[in-house]
Amino acid sequence: MPDSYTPYRGEVSASVIDALRAVLGERGLLTDPKEMEQHLVEWRDNYHGAAAAVLRPASTAEVAAAVKICHDAGVPIVPQGGMTGLVGAGIPHEHGGEVVLSLRRLNRILDVNPAAYTMTVEAGVVLKTIQETAAAHDRLFPLSLGAEGSCTIGGNLSTNAGGVQVLHYGNARNLVLGLEVVLPDGRIWNGLRSLKKDNTGYDLKQLYMGAEGTLGIITRAVLKLSPKPRDVATCWLAVRDPAASVELLSRATGASEDNVTSCELMSRQGIEFVLRHISGCVDPIAASHAWYVLMEWSSARAAPEGGGMSPRMEEFLAQAMEDGLVLDAVVAQSTAQAQMFWKIRESHSEGQKIEGPSIKHDISVPVSEIPAFIERGLAAMCAIVPGLRPVPFGHVGDGNLHFNAQAPVGMDKATFFKHAPAINHAVYELVRGVAGSISAEHGIGRFKLEELEHYRDVVELDLMRAIKRALDPRQIMNPGKVIRV
Ligand SMILES: Cc1cc2nc3c(=O)[nH]c(=O)nc-3n(C[C@H](O)[C@H](O)[C@H](O)COP(=O)(O)OP(=O)(O)OC[C@H]3O[C@@H](n4cnc5c(N)ncnc54)[C@H](O)[C@@H]3O)c2cc1C
Repeated sequence: MPDSYTPYRGEVSASVIDALRAVLGERGLLTDPKEMEQHLVEWRDNYHGAAAAVLRPASTAEVAAAVKICHDAGVPIVPQGGMTGLVGAGIPHEHGGEVVLSLRRLNRILDVNPAAYTMTVEAGVVLKTIQETAAAHDRLFPLSLGAEGSCTIGGNLSTNAGGVQVLHYGNARNLVLGLEVVLPDGRIWNGLRSLKKDNTGYDLKQLYMGAEGTLGIITRAVLKLSPKPRDVATCWLAVRDPAASVELLSRATGASEDNVTSCELMSRQGIEFVLRHISGCVDPIAASHAWYVLMEWSSARAAPEGGGMSPRMEEFLAQAMEDGLVLDAVVAQSTAQAQMFWKIRESHSEGQKIEGPSIKHDISVPVSEIPAFIERGLAAMCAIVPGLRPVPFGHVGDGNLHFNAQAPVGMDKATFFKHAPAINHAVYELVRGVAGSISAEHGIGRFKLEELEHYRDVVELDLMRAIKRALDPRQIMNPGKVIRV
């Protein structure tokens, strides 16, 4: 197929729909606009697409058969998991000439092997189910993020999701041993191996992770499990400033014997939105401070009598308070209290959504650059829109900040969004200045297509286009997302 191939943009013919119905059955195909609606709208309502049909296969064989039909007819496919993505990658375009392929009926746990620390799952299994299944087998699946009750493992792998424990366990791509993928022509690549070592040429599975469904459809995965933590200490800290959070993490890494599993920075503004809008959240520290850290240490070794993580953390914090890094501290005395700390952190996106319009940046910078970046970034955003309410929060250890801006009180979405290009430009130029990334964990999707082209090196863009053309020559796999060919 020549490079100039233009993806199908017309109506999907009745004969294609009939062929899809024949392989998927009535349950596996939606064409009624009312039934399709829930698959067409992004959860924040930033994207509202259209589709000729929603395909709901129930097995890898059905995915493959449906993809082959679409491939032969040139019909573009938008893979979809739990629809919690934040860059519009799982929502079809508005023209209506695409089909959505939802993986939600591929929802079986196929195997758990506690001795080998592995679990084999289908792509549509919800992340929380995987976490709970691992826990029931005395193991941990460490991927953990605010959307875990709705997002699917296929979506997590396709976005190379991060979350709150990357610091210790790595991104989603670090938690995978093998994949099964349906290729854009309908063939099935069986890379469902559980090998820790396999140097037989290119590591193909890595191509599909973080590809946002643009190269193929992940149908199964062999996941890596970890030992279940038996000794966990969680603290909620008011800290002097962002520089103190970086210094604290550096010190805590040694003091905990490399057992820091999370280190999250939050500003007062974000916490206020959560306390205002999310029921059941109580401020852990009565006095108000500008900056907070939620830190967790955990070990697979049970705490010895009178020892373990909590006393060691308390000793560490006493010194940090004496040194002026920590202004106030609460170490969780129960699992319920630790869960409350986490609820406040995990509800930041929801709190912002209810508060009103916001402009979001999911950036990463070298950890040592965090304090200066925050200072310059906040000043730049507030200079563009006086009254703008900044909500920076994120994963200190990964240098990953959700550098968000909430509209001034009373400003409507349309007015606020007129400032988005200037705000985005200011933030991304600062990111570029310290060799950071404009998308640390949410991906590119539709939302950051142009920014990727602007901020990525031309050689890297050429390589990405070459991969897309080679693996999806008819450009039917989630076209117009991640990279324009
Ligand atoms: C409250 C909240 C908190 C979040 N926190 C974090 C966070 O801390 N860290 C983080 O990294 N992300 C976070 N996210 C975004 C995160 O990317 C998604 O929640 C999740 O990883 C996407 O999974 P999903 O099943 O919802 O995928 P979807 O949104 O349905 O799809 C996402 C992308 O993956 C593709 N896709 C889905 N399934 C497959 C498949 N089987 N094969 C091929 N392509 C597929 C889609 O086409 C799309 O491009 C958060 C989202 C929310 C709403």
